[in-house]
Amino acid sequence: MDTTCIMCPMGCALRVEETDGKVVVTGNGCPRGAKYGEAEFLHPERVVTTLLKHERGGVVSVKTDRPIPKSKIGEFLSWAASYRVSGAVATGDALAEDPVGCGATVVATADYEE
Ligand code: SF4
Repeated sequence: MDTTCIMCPMGCALRVEETDGKVVVTGNGCPRGAKYGEAEFLHPERVVTTLLKHERGGVVSVKTDRPIPKSKIGEFLSWAASYRVSGAVATGDALAEDPVGCGATVVATADYEE
């Protein structure tokens, strides 16, 4: 697998391979890149940002408060498409707790005034 380390602005091009049951990272300029590459290979995660519809119209921008497994992103976006926010929202409000069972809370990233 080829990927780019995002741990600093250098953006080292990483190659991650599994050899004899061991994950080997090359191309990293420092140990942080090796750790990042191994995590990307074994259990990639992302913070997800999206928009939730408000029951009064318009949308509320949100993000997960922590990275979620990439394998859960589709399920998360399906949940987001059907979820409706109600009431006024302030930036940082927790709008849903753990909607797809991976421990992430959905928080508002902008205000919504009714
Ligand atoms: S491997 Fe190290 S030097 Fe390279 S981008 Fe990652 S953190 Fe920066």
